[in-house]
Amino acid sequence: MRLLQTLLLTLGVFTIFVFGQETPKQRHAYQSDVARLRKIVINSLYSHRDVFLRELISNANDALEKLRLTSLTEPEVLSGAENMNITIKAEKDEQGNGRIIIRDTGIGMTPEELSNNLGTLAKSGTSEFLSRAESDTTGNGNLIGAFGLGFYSSFLVADRVEVASMAAKSSANPNPAQYVFSSGADENSFEIFPDPRGNTLGRGTEITLYLKPDAIEYVDTNTIIELVNKHSSFSTSFPIYLYTTR
Ligand code: ADP
Ligand code: MG
Repeated sequence: MRLLQTLLLTLGVFTIFVFGQETPKQRHAYQSDVARLRKIVINSLYSHRDVFLRELISNANDALEKLRLTSLTEPEVLSGAENMNITIKAEKDEQGNGRIIIRDTGIGMTPEELSNNLGTLAKSGTSEFLSRAESDTTGNGNLIGAFGLGFYSSFLVADRVEVASMAAKSSANPNPAQYVFSSGADENSFEIFPDPRGNTLGRGTEITLYLKPDAIEYVDTNTIIELVNKHSSFSTSFPIYLYTTR
């Protein structure tokens, strides 16, 4: 509990602004290596699925670190939201469907970055990972971390993942807008579209995991606290807040 600060907040009713018109959605096919990789992650790492939270927190931490470094030379990247933190919210609706929402106020992503960073594998070493993982029968979850392919571990627990992101303001990008990357675990493609809620984040990234029915245990805040303390408490330099209901 040392680094994990618990925010007691009564969750209000959130009003989501739905625009009358449908927003233009762009559907992109995953690069073939991504499709292969996602299949491996989903099928062979089931017994290590706890790693999803560590991977998403580590990405949030990286994004905050990137923001901090960029702000040294471009202070305007901090405008819009001064806070540098990570918040986690877990909730269950009346139908019993669970969601985990992980938000950071880090550097954020443009729509192009959402597509390139989450839809393609522009990394060396990927094919080595793929061949090692395909011949790996031990289901060793550390392979994911070792090769830094963490985002896809979201699909271990979620049947749909939505990433809303707004890049930091900079001279190169003076008017950033909030976009969404959305993909189902069984889909070979993903969608990118302007967030129908508008620019609600100010800056940063919000990842919503629509939990699989058999992963519903992760909406329990005690489970989340345990996982954060176990995997992430010494590796993050920014505060992590957890919303709870009362
Ligand atoms: P890695 O972290 O090793 O690069 P990941 O699969 O975990 O691999 O993430 C892929 C990329 O997606 C990251 O390199 C980063 O560019 C982008 N990304 C993921 N999560 C975030 C986030 N919360 N904020 C900004 N960029 C992110
Ligand atoms: Mg990562």
